[in-house]
Amino acid sequence: MSHREKTDSRPSKDSSNYIGDDEITLYYQQLKHLIKLWGAARKSKTKSDITAFERCLTDITDICAPYTLFALHQVIASIKENIQSVNSRELNLKQAIEKIDNLVNKLIKGSKETPDPMLMTYEESVPTESIEVFAKPIAQKPKFHASTNTVAVIDDEKSTREMCGAILEQFNFKSLLYASIEEYQKSKPKVELVLLDVIMPGVTQKQVFEFANSQFQNGTRVITCSGLFTLETRLAAVRANVADFIVKPFNNTSLIEKINRVVQRKKNAQYTIVLVDDQESMGNFYRTIFEQHDIHVEFIKTAQELFDSLENLKPDLFLLDMFMPDINGLEIATMLRQEEKFDFAPIIFLTSDDTAETKLSVLEYGADDVISKQTPAHFVARQVIARLNRSNVISNFVSKDALTGVLNHGQIIESASSVLRLSKRNNTENVLALIDLDKFKEVNDTYGHGAGDRVLCTLGQQLRRSMRDTDKVGRYGGEEFIIVLQGVELDDALAKLNDMRENFGQLKFQHGSKYFCVTFSAGVVLLNDYGQVRAAINAADSRLYEAKAAGRNNIIGKDSTRH
Ligand code: GH3
Ligand code: MG
Ligand code: MG
Repeated sequence: MSHREKTDSRPSKDSSNYIGDDEITLYYQQLKHLIKLWGAARKSKTKSDITAFERCLTDITDICAPYTLFALHQVIASIKENIQSVNSRELNLKQAIEKIDNLVNKLIKGSKETPDPMLMTYEESVPTESIEVFAKPIAQKPKFHASTNTVAVIDDEKSTREMCGAILEQFNFKSLLYASIEEYQKSKPKVELVLLDVIMPGVTQKQVFEFANSQFQNGTRVITCSGLFTLETRLAAVRANVADFIVKPFNNTSLIEKINRVVQRKKNAQYTIVLVDDQESMGNFYRTIFEQHDIHVEFIKTAQELFDSLENLKPDLFLLDMFMPDINGLEIATMLRQEEKFDFAPIIFLTSDDTAETKLSVLEYGADDVISKQTPAHFVARQVIARLNRSNVISNFVSKDALTGVLNHGQIIESASSVLRLSKRNNTENVLALIDLDKFKEVNDTYGHGAGDRVLCTLGQQLRRSMRDTDKVGRYGGEEFIIVLQGVELDDALAKLNDMRENFGQLKFQHGSKYFCVTFSAGVVLLNDYGQVRAAINAADSRLYEAKAAGRNNIIGKDSTRH
C-alpha cells in the first residue's frame, strides 16, 4: 500500500498522532479478515458468524482509536448501527445486508486508493505549522548508552580526581580522568556517566552546566560535584538535566551510592511487562510497539493462561484489558493483588472506557491507572515506561538493604527460592555462597562502627559489581552475605569467589592516618542438591564454619576438601 509514500511531507510520525506504518499494516490485515467474515455472515446469517464479524469491527476500531480517522469511524459506526437495527427489528435482514455490503465496499474501495481516504487523519487537512506546535512540547527524553561501566571524572584538582578514580576502580568501574572539559572533549571518550566538578578555572558555571546539558542530550548522564550547595546551583543543575548532585567533600560510600543510583536505573531492555488481552490483534499490535521501545512483552490471551503462568511470572508491570469473554479485568487485578510477589508491579488498564467511574473502581481494586485506547500507541508506551521507572525506584527502596545496596534478607531468600524452583524445571546448575567477614568485631572495636559500616558497604557493592546481572547478591544479616550464581558449575563458582576473596583482601581502608585490610570466608554449596533454600544455607553455614576453623580468609565448597 502506498498510503505512506504519498504523505511524506508530514512531520515525523513518532512525535505526532499520524497513523503509523505498523497500524496501517495491521489495519489492512484486519480488513482482509473482515471481508472474509462478512462473506460468511451474510451467507449463513447465524448469530455466531455475525458476532465474529462484529468482533473484527471492534478490533479495527481499537487499532484506529488513537487517531482521528473520521471517515473510517463513520463507516464502522454505520455498519454497527445496521446490525443493531436488525436486532431491534427496525430494518429487515435484506435491507441491512444491502447497506452493510455498501459500507464494506467503501472500505475496499478506499484500500485501492492512494492515500486511502479511510486512513486520512483529521490533521491531514490542517496546515502543517499547527501540527508541529502540537507535537513539540512532548519531546522524548534521550535514550542512554548501554552500560559501558566507564565513568569520566572531570575535576581540576589532581588529588580529587585521583581519589575518585581510585574509589571507582575499587568498585569495578573503569575510570577516565580529565583536568578540564576541554581535555574531555578532545579525547571524545565513550562513557556511561560523567562526574563533573562545577567550579573550575577558565570556565563559568554557566558554561559547565551548558556542557552538562549537551552530555545529557547525547545520552550520557552527568553527576555534578561541588562544595557549593545553594538553591541557585541546584536549580541550574536541574535545568541542565543533571542526574544527581554530590556535595564535596565526599566519602567513597556516598559517591558510589550516588553513582549506583544513577547507573543502575533499569534500562528499558531489562523490563518485562505482561499484557493480557483476549484479542490477538490488539496484543500483537501493542507487543510490536513495546518492542520498539526495547521492552519485553509476555502476551497472555486468557484468564486460564494467566492463572497457569502466575508462578513463573515476575513482570515489572501488568497491562490489562478491561473486558474479556470469561473474566472482568477488575477480577484479574484482584487476583494479582492477592499475590505478594506482585505487590510492586503496577497494574494498568488499557481501555476505551476511561470514564471517571471506571478510573475510580480501578483504583479501588488495587490497580494503578487507566490509559485510554484513544491514546496514540507510542504515547501509551512512554506512559508505561515512566511508570516502570518510578516503580523501579520504589521497589529498589523496599527490596534493597539500606546500608549496602544489595538485596535485603527477605529478597535474597525469595530470589534464591525462585532460582531453585526454576532450576528444577530447566536443570541448570546453581551455586549458593554464604560469606562472612573475618574478625569483623575487631574492626568495629578498633576503628569504630562507622568504619565497619564502610567495609560492609564496600563488600556489598563489590560483590554486586563482580557478579553477572543474573546472579543474586543479598545481605543475609549483620556481616553475612548470600550470593546465588546462576548456571555455573561448582568449580567455576569457587574459582570466581576465590578471585573476589583475594581482591577484597587487598583493599586498603583508611581510618584517619591508618590503613587496614579485611578478609572474608565463605561456605559454598550446589543449590540444586537441596530441596529447600533453608537446607542449602544450613549446609553452606557448616562449610563456612569449617572455613573459619581452618584459619579464615578461606572458601570451602566441598566436603572435606579444603581450598
Ligand atoms: P568471625 O571471623 O568468626 O566471623 O568473627 P567476627 O568478629 O566477624 O564475628 P562475630 O559474629 O563475633 O561479630 C560480628 C560483628 O559484626 C559484631 C557486630 O557488631 C558486627 N556487625 C553486625 N552488623 C553490623 C553493622 O551493620 N555495622 C557494623 N559496623 N557492624 C556490624
Ligand atoms: Mg564474621
Ligand atoms: Mg557472623
